[in-house]
Amino acid sequence: MVKGLKILIVGAGIGGLALARVLALRGADVTVLEQAPEIAEVGAGLQISPNGLAVLRALGLAGALEASGAVLADTVQLKDYRGAGVLKLDLTQLSPQKYYFVHRADLIELLAEGARAAGVKIQLLQKVESVEDGPLARIILASGEVREADLIVGCDGVHSVVRGALNGAEKPFFTGNAAWRATVPNLWGRRSDVQVHMGPRRHLVSYPLKGGAMVNLVAVEEQRKWLAESWMQEDDPANLQAAFDDFGAEAKAMLAEVREVKQWGLFRHPVAVRWHGESLALLGDAAHPTLPFLAQGAVMALEDAWAMGVALDRAERLSQGLETYQLWRRARAEKVINTATGNAWKYHLSFGPLRFAAHSVLRLGGAVAPMQMLKQFDWLYGYDVTTDLPVQNQR
Ligand SMILES: Cc1cc2nc3c(=O)[nH]c(=O)nc-3n(C[C@H](O)[C@H](O)[C@H](O)COP(=O)(O)OP(=O)(O)OC[C@H]3O[C@@H](n4cnc5c(N)ncnc54)[C@H](O)[C@@H]3O)c2cc1C
Repeated sequence: MVKGLKILIVGAGIGGLALARVLALRGADVTVLEQAPEIAEVGAGLQISPNGLAVLRALGLAGALEASGAVLADTVQLKDYRGAGVLKLDLTQLSPQKYYFVHRADLIELLAEGARAAGVKIQLLQKVESVEDGPLARIILASGEVREADLIVGCDGVHSVVRGALNGAEKPFFTGNAAWRATVPNLWGRRSDVQVHMGPRRHLVSYPLKGGAMVNLVAVEEQRKWLAESWMQEDDPANLQAAFDDFGAEAKAMLAEVREVKQWGLFRHPVAVRWHGESLALLGDAAHPTLPFLAQGAVMALEDAWAMGVALDRAERLSQGLETYQLWRRARAEKVINTATGNAWKYHLSFGPLRFAAHSVLRLGGAVAPMQMLKQFDWLYGYDVTTDLPVQNQR
């Protein structure tokens, strides 16, 4: 039933642009409204795991991803904060599944091109002030203009206006973790591995980007100080370097190259109770923001986009399609979020003997049964939303 539907999407992020292409390819008349003056992204990396790649492939964009300078990952290395190896996993064992590191700006650009090529209109400087549900959904823009559509989908991120309209105000809570992100030149010949240096109450993730020209850094520290939940807040690189001063030479060498850094507070949000109304729906971070400890937020938005397209296309009525979409996606999103939340303490054990014990178990597991270590994520990475959705929609 997608063909001919007039659909407005709020937000030209990863979720909004992917959904726009999904729905336009199925015959909908799609417009994306973005508040920003241009489709630009922050200079940072994203990991695209096999379950996200499956969606890009089904959308005909996997070639564009490879051509964008995305790095094909082959190894995950967990290290102690001093640099001693704890666990090394060979991702090529997952073959044919592939795992990529991509620059966010490159992913956004290829999704925007893909959306436009499918006939989507992307309109900039369109800040949505409020939305109203009903037989026809309505948007009120900051300019005062009112727009109507058969369906409005909020892909407007963690501070979603559409989520508020469907669920009322929510109360996120500060997790006591602060994160920094930066990119540095790749001076170490890093080619295709992701490394996690795990210290007491802190960890540092690093991986190569842009065909290996740069290294992406995400550093997380437990902090009492409350920080704003914005990815755009500048910090002094000296603060980051000081926070990781007792880390080993390898980690410190990367941090020493940081010239510009952003810092923000990590908040937990409840998964939205209502993902849709009569003609309003939510997707991506707007429905289920996650902590970045499993690198799945953008990938979940891609999976959502595909699932919404299939659910709507198969349905006889819009409400039925939206109900199926929520049914298909909610439990998986919750599982991902709970797993990501659980990862934080695993990285951050601060009591020495406990850390030693946990690392020993990981070492042993990696040495004795490396495939089992990889297989524990089969439910996540081995899932292909483009082939694994139930055959029948909800009635
Ligand atoms: C440090 C960090 C590392 C991460 N690493 C990974 C990773 O490796 N892999 C992964 O899969 N995920 C990762 N994520 C998560 C991922 O970035 C997010 O989950 C993803 O960007 C969500 O996409 P989205 O489209 O739902 O929302 P967003 O990307 O937030 O896009 C929302 C869009 O809506 C627009 N908008 C908002 N409000 C309005 C309005 N009122 N009117 C009009 N437009 C509006 C915004 O300007 C924006 O363009 C990471 C996140 C962080 C913070």
